[in-house]
Amino acid sequence: MAFSSESYRDTWAEINTENIKYNVREIRKLHAVDVAVMAVVKADGYGHGAAATALAAAEAGASYFGVALLEEALELREAGIELPILVLGRTRPQDAPVAARNGIRLTVFQEEWLKEASKYASGESLLIHMKVDTGMGRLGLREDSEIASFLDAAAQNPSVELEGMYTHFATADELETTYFEQQYARFSRVVDLVQHLGRSPRLIHCGNSAAAMRFPEHCFNMIRFGISMYGLTPAENITEHLPFTLKEAFTLHSRLTQVKEVPPGTSISYGATYTSVENEWIGTVPIGYADGWLRAHAENQGEVLVDGYRVPIVGRICMDQMMVRLPHEVPVDTEVTLIGSQREETISVTEVASRLGTITYEVPCIISKRVPRVYPPDNRPGA
Ligand SMILES: *Cc1c(COP(=O)(O)O)cnc(C)c1O
Repeated sequence: MAFSSESYRDTWAEINTENIKYNVREIRKLHAVDVAVMAVVKADGYGHGAAATALAAAEAGASYFGVALLEEALELREAGIELPILVLGRTRPQDAPVAARNGIRLTVFQEEWLKEASKYASGESLLIHMKVDTGMGRLGLREDSEIASFLDAAAQNPSVELEGMYTHFATADELETTYFEQQYARFSRVVDLVQHLGRSPRLIHCGNSAAAMRFPEHCFNMIRFGISMYGLTPAENITEHLPFTLKEAFTLHSRLTQVKEVPPGTSISYGATYTSVENEWIGTVPIGYADGWLRAHAENQGEVLVDGYRVPIVGRICMDQMMVRLPHEVPVDTEVTLIGSQREETISVTEVASRLGTITYEVPCIISKRVPRVYPPDNRPGA
C-alpha cells in the first residue's frame, strides 16, 4: 500500500524493517556469494508494504524482486526502485510492452504467448523467465518436447530474450521430502536439457523460503525468498529444522476508545453472546473484521495484550470494533497489542495463525488497507 503520512485512527501495523534486513542477511550467509536473493514482495509485501520491504531487503543485499502482477511491479518502479523485477504470474501478451519499457521481467511458458507478444513488440527487448512445471501443477511447461520447442521459438523471436528459467516446489515445507526430491530431480534434468541445447539462461532458480533454508545446495544461482524474509515460518512443524531463528516483522496495535466497569449480567456485542459473571472492566478496541481482524478471533478464544497482560476478546467482533475484558481499570487510549510484544508477553503471527487454523502467510495479508503500515523513519518509501 502507498505510504500515507496522514492517519486519523489509532489502529496501525508497525513493520520492523530491521528484522526484514536481519532475515535477508541470515539467508545470504547460508548461500554462496554468487547466489542472488530475489525478495518476493507480492501482495503488498505479504501485507507489510511492498516498497518499504523492498528497500529494506535491498539494503541487506537482495538484488532482485518478485511480484505476482504487472501492476505490483509498476508500483515498485513508481516508488523509485530500479533493481530487476520478475512478475511470477502470467501477464497478458498485449501488456508485454509495458513490462519491456519498465525493465520488468515476465514469466512465460506458452509458445503461443511469444507469437502474440511479438505482435505488440515496441522495439525494446523483453526479458523473460521460462517457467517449468515439475509437479506444482499450476503454471509451466511440462514435457521435454514442449520445452525444446519453446526455447527454439524464444531464440527465433527478436523481441524477447531468455534471462532465466525456474520452477516452484509444492512440498518444500514438509518433513517428508520424497516429492520435493522428485521435483528437484525433474528440474535438474530440464536444466541439463536446456544446457545441452545451448540455451542456458543467466539465472536458474527454484528455491522458495522453505527450500532456500532447508536445501541451500539445491538452489542454483538465485533464491526466491518470500515468507521467511518477513520472519515467518513456511510451516510450523519445520520451525525447529530451520538453520537460523527468524525474526517477525509484522506487529499490530490499537488504543482503547472506551473503558467501563459493568455489573454481573451485562451482555456485550451483537447477539449478546457474552455476559459478564461479576463486576468486570470492559475495553473497546477500534478494529474489526473490515480491517481483516476476523470474527474467528473471538470464536477461537483470541487474546490481545493490554498493560502487559493477555486479555480475552469478549463477544462478537464487529465490522470496526471489538471488546476485551480488562484485568483492572486502565485509561482510555491505553495501547492494545494484537500482534507483537508488551513487556514479558508476546503474541506472534505464528500464534495468531494457529488460533485461526491457518498458515502464517494469511495473517498479515488479510489485514486490510484501512490499517496504515508504519515504518522506522529511515525506511519509509520516498524518505
Ligand atoms: C510466492 C512465491 C514464492 C515465495 O514463496 P515463499 O514460500 O513465500 O518463500 C516463490 N516463488 C513463487 C513462484 C511464488 O509464487
